[in-house]
Amino acid sequence: MKTIIEPFRIKAVEPIRMTTRTERVTKLAAAHHNLFTLNSQDVLIDLLTDSGTGAMSAEQWAAIMRGDESYAGSPSFARFCDAIQNLMPFDHIIPTHQGRAAEAILFSIMGGVGRNIPSNTHFDTTRGNIEASGAMAHDLVIDEGKDPASEHPFKGNMDLAQLETYLTKHGDSVPCVMITITNNAGGGQPVSLENIRAVAQVAHNHSRPFFIDGCRFAENAWFIKQREPGQQDRSIEDIVRDCFAVADGMTMSAKKDGFANIGGWLALNDPELAEQARAHLVRTEGFPTYGGLAGRDLDAIAQGLKEIVDEDYLRYRIRTNEYIIERLDALGVPVIKPAGGHAVFVDARAWLSHIEPLQYPGQALACALYETGGIRSCEIGTVMFGRHPDGSETPAAMDLVRLAFPRRTYTQSHADYIVETFEELVQVKDKLRGFKITKQPKLLRHFTCWFEPSSKNLVD
Ligand SMILES: *Cc1c(COP(=O)(O)O)cnc(C)c1O
Repeated sequence: MKTIIEPFRIKAVEPIRMTTRTERVTKLAAAHHNLFTLNSQDVLIDLLTDSGTGAMSAEQWAAIMRGDESYAGSPSFARFCDAIQNLMPFDHIIPTHQGRAAEAILFSIMGGVGRNIPSNTHFDTTRGNIEASGAMAHDLVIDEGKDPASEHPFKGNMDLAQLETYLTKHGDSVPCVMITITNNAGGGQPVSLENIRAVAQVAHNHSRPFFIDGCRFAENAWFIKQREPGQQDRSIEDIVRDCFAVADGMTMSAKKDGFANIGGWLALNDPELAEQARAHLVRTEGFPTYGGLAGRDLDAIAQGLKEIVDEDYLRYRIRTNEYIIERLDALGVPVIKPAGGHAVFVDARAWLSHIEPLQYPGQALACALYETGGIRSCEIGTVMFGRHPDGSETPAAMDLVRLAFPRRTYTQSHADYIVETFEELVQVKDKLRGFKITKQPKLLRHFTCWFEPSSKNLVD
């Protein structure tokens, strides 16, 4: 069969409230053109994020009932640890309410003024936590990873020569080496098992611990199975285990490849580090056997981890992306290729080349997708990464718009509708205008800043 069907049927549904274009134009203006400020009822297809927005399975809802809410020593925590350690063999598992809480704890210990932390590409919250500690975050992704047109199979790989130079140059100021799988901020592109192993080797040669930001570990493993020589006959579980076997710890958002609506963890092998992390956890999240979570959340994650490595699910998940990318490509919309894991990334800087990077072409496209089709997407570009801790602003490496797909939530007709919205935009794209920012916080500005259409680009 050519059609890869959704490998599930639907047991509970959530109605979508239909809106008109006129309504959406008004709503967007009232939200200061920041899509994070919209009410979700005013969105038809919500592709803002794949984080915590997925549909849980019947077994996960059953696990929710099984959850044990004991303050200390709950069996839910034991099931949570077992499910993680079955895939990621770390000694110490520290539950947190989200991935960023795990990052905050890790960098409260490892960060600090004068420290330098490399990754392939740091995700925005990771960068935010590193910089808030006073340390510097640096991205060492391979050149192909910065080229939207490159069809390299592992565009999330880290540049090993650059890492070597970096570690020699920064010496003792580097507390750890990180890698993000898949590379969310770099287009959801995968990292090969070979690269993970090589990065771990370089880090260990310099006596530095190696940490994986593992948010999309299952999607990354699927790509390794599809694209890396010699991995085709291996199970997803085995590939996942190999990825984490060479690491000294990980941070995780269970809202991604944990199939949960909330949750995360920090995992470590170093007992001293774990001790420090737990002390911080008790102060900011909760007791070590629940962290920032309810017992029922721990159980939902434990079950989710069993389902996320299912090959039928992963095949359908990645195929949805590929399908939309093929259709957009045929329309002449520049998309990041090959398909990444969790999202379609449109190269807004290339497509809306009449809008300067500092007038945020990504934001312009995201707003147009909402007004035209009620689709909520996310700018990943100069709005998100362009502002520096000293207040200066430069264009980010790329200006992308991310259409992130909630897990098991939308169907094929939603995918076709998304393509149709782009068909409409093809007609009017040269008339879209850029934006200026009128109000912004110091860190992570994209969540709350206000925009105004830039008069410089006014065409109407
Ligand atoms: C989502 C994400 C995080 C942060 O996790 P939250 O649960 O949203 O706090 C960190 N790194 C990557 C790569 C992510 O995608």
